[in-house]
Amino acid sequence: MPSPRTRRLIALDKAHVWHPFTQMRDWLADPEPLVIERGQGATLFDSEGRPYLDAVSSLWVTVHGHGHPALLKALARQAERLDHSTLLGLANEPSVLFAQALLKAAPRGLSKVFYSDRGSTAMEIALKLAYQFWQNQGGAAAKKTRFITFSEAYHGDTIGSVSLGGIDLFHQVYRPLLFPTLQVPTPYGSGDPAQGARALAQVEALLKKEKGRVAGLVVEPLMQGAAGMLKAPAGLLRSLRRLCDKHDVLLIADEVATGFGRSGTLFACQQEGVSPDLMAVAKGISGGLLPLAATLASERVYKGFLHPYAEQKTFFHGHTYTGNPIACAVALESLKLFTTERTLAKLQPKIERLRQALPSLLERPHVGEIRQAGFMVGIELMKDKYHRTPYAYADAIGAQVCRRARDYGVILRPLGPVIVLMPPLCTSLTELDFLLKVVEASVKDVTERYLDAGQAPR
Ligand SMILES: *Cc1c(COP(=O)(O)O)cnc(C)c1O
Repeated sequence: MPSPRTRRLIALDKAHVWHPFTQMRDWLADPEPLVIERGQGATLFDSEGRPYLDAVSSLWVTVHGHGHPALLKALARQAERLDHSTLLGLANEPSVLFAQALLKAAPRGLSKVFYSDRGSTAMEIALKLAYQFWQNQGGAAAKKTRFITFSEAYHGDTIGSVSLGGIDLFHQVYRPLLFPTLQVPTPYGSGDPAQGARALAQVEALLKKEKGRVAGLVVEPLMQGAAGMLKAPAGLLRSLRRLCDKHDVLLIADEVATGFGRSGTLFACQQEGVSPDLMAVAKGISGGLLPLAATLASERVYKGFLHPYAEQKTFFHGHTYTGNPIACAVALESLKLFTTERTLAKLQPKIERLRQALPSLLERPHVGEIRQAGFMVGIELMKDKYHRTPYAYADAIGAQVCRRARDYGVILRPLGPVIVLMPPLCTSLTELDFLLKVVEASVKDVTERYLDAGQAPR
């Protein structure tokens, strides 16, 4: 039984808060939702003082761990000097220094940073920049208005970024509000090269059919994250870059999930030596402390907006908190930690540990497929993996397994039937082994004990 304080917080939460991506009916029915109170390293503590491994990095954002002293110091120091000042017509030191550092670390060819505050806005900005880039040129170029996307894509929850998305469960209801895209069936999944080749042929055919009408191609490098951790066939990104070059179409990379070390390199594009024309980053950008995002643009895209004032070819876009000095100061410190703490070098043995250990989970009868890119993992549960029969949506199998993992002291959040492992990059090998053990036990408990016995809890 939780303490009176916790019970009071839960009651107030249920009275006043509407949670994202949450069926509130279930939330209200949950007798003991967790109230998180404190974080340290890869661990979260609830209001009862119980520890949990934060295996979703607080929704894919925590990098160096909760409560990292260097990040807290950067935050406090900047907050005392200047809390906020607008980038509309003014500059500030942290936004300048972070832009410089970010561009130095980013794929070559990206030369300007446009700040915003979350992944969705970073993608909206990429989309509007790509569109207006061609509009500003006028003439035949202004006919380039369409975007090529992949089914199962996820680029955020605002209407523009939802238009680029292809996850029916999230996006279908809004279809009448969205602009249409040229959607190609996703080649992401097990990483099958044949699917990659098929998708490339489809993209090329589209580019020929829609010759002169395509503004950009939008892609999640290496992994479609929210789709359930679907893996790209090797070389897909590089081939898409080649096709975009050939047909003079802008390549827009959504590195919101993959960026800042998650894929094993600082940015996923770097694994295939690809420089996109526009690149959106968010999630891990501030180490997980504050909302910040950036859309990186090539010099070519940037120059497409340099025109006499009177021509009205300015990029008329900007959010109130754009370039917030505190967020930028923390992001700069977080980026520095990658060097001073050798974050990526230290990550490699942990990626390797996952690669070694995960396949044994496939021995479980309900683990259908495991997909890994660096430190992002999806474990797909199937009702009958030999016939590839999925669980019914109503089984909420992923949610049940994650709920079970909580009993063992691990916070997980599923994507449908996929158990997602996204621990902070700072997670130790010991913590990783603990996570793997808990995942195995939770999957076993739920899939075998409950469901096979025909007595699904809840
Ligand atoms: C999370 C995510 C977004 C949206 O970011 P928000 O900060 O939630 O708006 C966009 N693209 C990808 C690939 C993501 O994983």
